[in-house]
Amino acid sequence: MFSAGEIESFSSQSRIANSNGLQNSALNVLPSSSTSSSGSSSRYENQKRRDWNTFGQYLKNHKPPLTLSKCSGAHVLEFLKYLDQFGKTKVHNPLCPFYGHPNPPAPCACPLRQAWGSLDALIGRLRAAFEENGGKPETNPFGARAVRLYLRDVRDLQSKARGISYEKKKRKHHHHHHPLLPPPPQRNIPAIPPPGASC
Ligand SMILES: [Zn+2]
Repeated sequence: MFSAGEIESFSSQSRIANSNGLQNSALNVLPSSSTSSSGSSSRYENQKRRDWNTFGQYLKNHKPPLTLSKCSGAHVLEFLKYLDQFGKTKVHNPLCPFYGHPNPPAPCACPLRQAWGSLDALIGRLRAAFEENGGKPETNPFGARAVRLYLRDVRDLQSKARGISYEKKKRKHHHHHHPLLPPPPQRNIPAIPPPGASC
């Protein structure tokens, strides 16, 4: 039978947990959600400085040693994946009965990750900090194509897994179509017994 426990093998936490060189405390800097950037700007500045320090700390602990000038988009991705182990956002895998449910009625064994919105905002701050600290825009690893693509994937994946739309506010932009991927089928989801049901 299909039980929630079997889903646990999908968790990839062990994959990321081994290269842990940072103290957890340094990473409580990620805001759980911040959609509007019109808050106080000094708060943003503080957050940016903390994020920058966190990243500097990460570089310092990196094995093999890594300096900012050698840092590429691939390293930024590594950093983002590393942060996932401190995430607090439930991301259901496609086999979970709650896949696509914004408000699951019961707990499940799916992993916790950093929310896309947090990562996206973090990259924006680090990207700005890099240039404020003398980095050239052309070599900004936080602006690398790979990082943009990764964030887009995370957004799509989390929006499907959590049944949440991350679409921006109505902004006129070109219609973009998705010719390759038809919408996932909604019918063949295995039925789960109602909570009180017994045989
Ligand atoms: Zn789940």
